[in-house]
Amino acid sequence: MNAEAAVNDRYSRQILFDGIGEEGQRKLLGARVLIVGCGALGTAHAEALCRAGVGRLRIVDRDFVEPSNLQRQTMFTESDADKRLPKAIAAANHLREINSEIEIEPHVADVNYSNIEQLIDGCDVVLDGTDNFATRYLINDACVKHETNWIYGAAVGSYGVTMTVRPHKTACLRCIFEEAPPAASAPTCDTAGVIMPIISIVSAVQVAEALKLVTGSFAELHESLMQFDVWRNEWRKIRIAAPHPDCPTCGLGQFETLSPTTAETAAVLCGRDAIQISPSQPTTINFLLLAERLRAAGEVKFNEYLLRFKTGPFELTVFQDARSIVRGTDQIATARSLYAKYIGN
Ligand SMILES: [Zn+2]
Repeated sequence: MNAEAAVNDRYSRQILFDGIGEEGQRKLLGARVLIVGCGALGTAHAEALCRAGVGRLRIVDRDFVEPSNLQRQTMFTESDADKRLPKAIAAANHLREINSEIEIEPHVADVNYSNIEQLIDGCDVVLDGTDNFATRYLINDACVKHETNWIYGAAVGSYGVTMTVRPHKTACLRCIFEEAPPAASAPTCDTAGVIMPIISIVSAVQVAEALKLVTGSFAELHESLMQFDVWRNEWRKIRIAAPHPDCPTCGLGQFETLSPTTAETAAVLCGRDAIQISPSQPTTINFLLLAERLRAAGEVKFNEYLLRFKTGPFELTVFQDARSIVRGTDQIATARSLYAKYIGN
C-alpha cells in the first residue's frame, strides 16, 4: 500500500461519510486544533480528533493526573496517576500511540492573558475543556479578537451544556452570559461530582461541531445553546441570537481579560509556601452553603470571617469576598487549579 492509500484506508469510514469525504479528510489533516484543558472533556476531545486525523493537535493543561481522574478521564491510566504526570504530557504519550501520523503539541501551562493569544495563533478551531468561567471568558476574548471559531462546553453532575461561537457571525459567550456566576455560587465537579456519560455527550457534540467547522460544513452547525441532563432525561436546544451590538466583547471590541491589570488575580505570598487568589468579580460568600458543598471533599471549618478547607497536602483559607489563600504550594498554577476546583471561577 502506498502512503496515500494507507491514509485513505485508515480514514476510510470517515471518507465514506457524505459530510466529510476525501476533501473533508484533507482539510482535517491540514488543520490545527487547540484544546484548552485536558481533563474529562479535554481528553475526550483529544482522542476523538486524534483518531479523526486532525493534523496538528495543540493541548494545554496546568494539572497532573490523579487517581480520582480515572473514573471519567478516559485517556489516563493508573501508571499516569502513579507518576503524577502532567495531563498534557500523559495525553500526548497516549495520543502518539493512537495515531503516529499527526503532530501533538503538548503545553504544560496555566492559560492566562499572557499566553492565550500565542496558543490560539495558527489554530482553526479552539475546543473548551476547562472547568471555570474565568478561562472561558479569556478564550472568548482571544477568539473574538482573532476571529477564531471556538466551542464552549461544560459538565457537572449529570448536566452539561455546549455552544459554538463564530465571532461576529453568532452570539459570543459574553452575549449569552454577560457575567460569570459569582465565585462559590455554583457546583463544581469537585464538590458535586460528575458522571462519565454526560462528558461523552458534551464532548461528542463539541467534536462533531469541530469536524463541521474544519470541513466547512457551516450549514450543519446546531446554532444553539444545547443543554443535556442524562439523569433527569432532559434535552434542550435554545436557538442563539445574532451577535449583540452592545456586547462588550464582540460588539464593542473590549477584551478586558487580555490585559494584565484585570486578569492577574494570583499573588505569591513570600516565604509562606502559599498563594493568594482573588475572585475575578466582587462577591460575598455564604460559608454555610460552601461548607456543605466542600464537606464531601475534605475537612471544613468556618466562622463568620473565614472558612478553612483541607484537602490532601493543601489548605484553602477562604474569606467572605472569595479571596483565598492556598497553602501547601508555591505554584500559581496549582493554586489556581485548586481554587477553580473547590471555590469555582
Ligand atoms: Zn458577544
